[in-house]
Amino acid sequence: MNEIDYSPFWNEAFKQLEQEIGEHEFTIWFNIEYAGATPDTIRVRVPSSFYRDQFIKAYQKILEAKLADLTGKNLSLEFIVEKKPASPEPAKIPVQKPSDPAPATSATTAPPRPARSKHPSLRADLTFENFVIGENNSFAANAALAIAKNPGTAYNPFLIYGGVGLGKTHLMHSIGNRVWQESGKTKIICLSAEEFTNEFIQSIHDKTTHAFKNKYRQADILLIDDINFLEKKMGSQEELFHTFNALYDTNKQMVFTCDRPVSELKNLSDRLRSRFERGLNVDLQPPNYETRCAILRKKAEDARLPVPAEVTDIIARNISTNVRDLEAALMKLSAYAALVGKEITLEIAQQQLKDVFSQSKHGNVTIDHILRVVADHFKISYGDLKGKKRTKNIAFPRQVAMYIAREITEYSTTELGLEFGGRDHTTVMHGCQKIEERLKLDPGLETTIHQIVTAVKEMSAKG
Ligand code: ADP
Ligand code: MG
Repeated sequence: MNEIDYSPFWNEAFKQLEQEIGEHEFTIWFNIEYAGATPDTIRVRVPSSFYRDQFIKAYQKILEAKLADLTGKNLSLEFIVEKKPASPEPAKIPVQKPSDPAPATSATTAPPRPARSKHPSLRADLTFENFVIGENNSFAANAALAIAKNPGTAYNPFLIYGGVGLGKTHLMHSIGNRVWQESGKTKIICLSAEEFTNEFIQSIHDKTTHAFKNKYRQADILLIDDINFLEKKMGSQEELFHTFNALYDTNKQMVFTCDRPVSELKNLSDRLRSRFERGLNVDLQPPNYETRCAILRKKAEDARLPVPAEVTDIIARNISTNVRDLEAALMKLSAYAALVGKEITLEIAQQQLKDVFSQSKHGNVTIDHILRVVADHFKISYGDLKGKKRTKNIAFPRQVAMYIAREITEYSTTELGLEFGGRDHTTVMHGCQKIEERLKLDPGLETTIHQIVTAVKEMSAKG
């Protein structure tokens, strides 16, 4: 089909919608990009399926109507889930160096004024500048940025939930720090739910509950970490409920973090739960391989630690649980290197992190292990499996190997394509899809895959 350039209409539609919808909402949700068009369809690139689904639900019709207005044609949108081609690494919030010229107005850059002294209860090291954005957290990070820019106007409360070590506390403090740096008058209170509870109990004991209530109800921004701690603490819940109402009614921003979705907190009063769920609740997912690499590089850079790429790579491949564990691995290497006065090398990393790696989910599974076990299982040669032949007796085992590799390693489909004899990532995706379809019809295949995975893991454990 003929390609056609609708980009001028696209840009105009964006400009108008930004005004109609409001900059806030627009920045968060219009995370989509023009990627080409045919006469009837515009292809748009979105960074993840999450954005795509949210966009389709809330804005697809609005955007299509706007484009119809401008072009006089009924154009439909076709979504491609893909990160921006220009940035192979996950986007990072740019760090502004003191020598940089004054930035254009942007949500992500700090203002050029000198930094204020530290806020007494905010951790100065937890800032947007230090936070690496990847697919797993971009929605939460962008929402946090929007809130820091205009606290109390939208998304109140803002609640970040997710497993341990994924950056909840970091994002919450980043909001506080950004506001603290930009606005001298804003009264920010930041504490953990545990501290809130302890202070409340103390105030009852000291008969100072009145002062306690006043303190929290005067906040312009209230940040409370780990509200899961409030489970079963009925008195504290009651107190927070009233504080919440007072702040909410006066448009004061509240930010909470929680280790799981609020709906899963069992011992929480229904009325407090409904307050928490009122604004925007977002989750943080574990980072993918690329983001893990970017985080490690950033941490090494900030600590002025020379870490070769092969070392960040091996850590990122082996530790996939959370960011805290990544940091811990890097700290361990750093401490060792300082102690023995050597630079960090791959050998040192392998040796020092042996225990950490062996506990990790996938051990040291390599594509080579998978290919060898699959070749053995289907009684074909390793060379054929990796090679160009496309006969059925080779193509199917190859698809099985691709599927397993995608499931149990951290390789991206592009990397897998390279490992599988220089194939394109779409071939890998197609192969995996074929297996997924077949798995639905053929229960025997699941058993086969299970056996192969077990054998691969055994082989990998032996090294
Ligand atoms: P949580 O509160 O979710 O348990 P934290 O916010 O304490 O996790 O994060 C754990 C550690 O990982 C912190 O040192 C934090 O700075 C770091 N961290 C988490 N996510 C990121 C990220 N995206 N970029 C940089 N560092 C991160
Ligand atoms: Mg935390």
